[in-house]
Amino acid sequence: MNDPETRELIIIGGGPAGYTAALYAARADLEPLVIEGFQWGGQLMITSDVENYPGYPDGVMGPEMMADFRRQAEKFGAEFLTDDVTRVDFSGGLLRVSVGDDEYAARAVIVATGATARFLGIPSEEKHKGRGVSACATCDAAFFRDRDVYVVGGGDSAFEEALFLTKFASRVHLVHRRDEFRASKIMIDRAERNEKLDFVLNAVVDEIVGNVKVEALRLRSTVTGETWEVPADGLFVAIGHDPNTALFRDQLDHDDQGYLVTKPGSTATNVPGVFAAGDVQDHTYRQAITAAGSGCMAALDAERFLASLEGHPGTALTAGR
Ligand code: NAP
Repeated sequence: MNDPETRELIIIGGGPAGYTAALYAARADLEPLVIEGFQWGGQLMITSDVENYPGYPDGVMGPEMMADFRRQAEKFGAEFLTDDVTRVDFSGGLLRVSVGDDEYAARAVIVATGATARFLGIPSEEKHKGRGVSACATCDAAFFRDRDVYVVGGGDSAFEEALFLTKFASRVHLVHRRDEFRASKIMIDRAERNEKLDFVLNAVVDEIVGNVKVEALRLRSTVTGETWEVPADGLFVAIGHDPNTALFRDQLDHDDQGYLVTKPGSTATNVPGVFAAGDVQDHTYRQAITAAGSGCMAALDAERFLASLEGHPGTALTAGR
């Protein structure tokens, strides 16, 4: 195989981190190639109103915001490939990234592949995915008009999903395995004020009952172990996320949950020239604004790295900001 064309920078991932890195890198004339994933846009594509991104006092729809991020990076010359990376090889001097049979090479890579919603992992869940079991109320809530639905989880995602579902469903029950929530107070207050919403505490979903569609759930008390069945038309799982790092695990340092590890105060990974930004390296904040911020940091770090390479002229990334 011929040597692939060598670029300055490849960005893997098309969410707030990847697009912000692309914007900064493109403005620095690094002509980044953004391999944004077949389903570009990341988690905000399955979010409804974003009310906490500064600069949008009236809120903005997640997909609209991501399209804006992308357009802004494109305006300055970022190139996009709407496909999934299938392999990376960071073992040589040049960093190699493959999409099927096509290989790309770069002197620097920014990994911004984000995280993916977690499911419960029970067999009946798999059987009912897309038939009453979902991890995305924004995508699927409208199918549950005047229905009785359950949401699992006690964090902001679960509350957001449950509140959104109350616009459609006749009744929404939020099942949580403890009697204290992780969600922010404002979300809990909103949920408590919502007459369509109630809580089932100290309980987990043990089994999803139904042939073609979801008909009932078997719940289990986390205190007594007692189980009971409740009629249900749908189940929304909102129990957190896993980082999308399978491609990198044998090459980049990661923690025991799979999140990439970056050097303190930087986006540098253990491989020179490879940087990580956004949810793929952050299990603490996980906000669009923090992902975007770290995407900016990664572009600055990558540019400084490129400028430091022997014989490389470098560019002034910070100039003209
Ligand atoms: P999270 O905060 O990690 O909450 C996950 C929830 O799922 C926890 O309550 C956890 O229970 C529960 N859980 C985990 N595994 C479970 C299992 N196997 N069975 C039953 N329950 C299980 O995740 P998140 O809600 O996705 O939020 C992630 C981050 O995004 C947070 O920082 C959050 O603030 C942010 N976020 C913000 C907004 C917003 O501001 N609009 C919206 C969504 C998310 P325990 O509590 O017992 O561990």
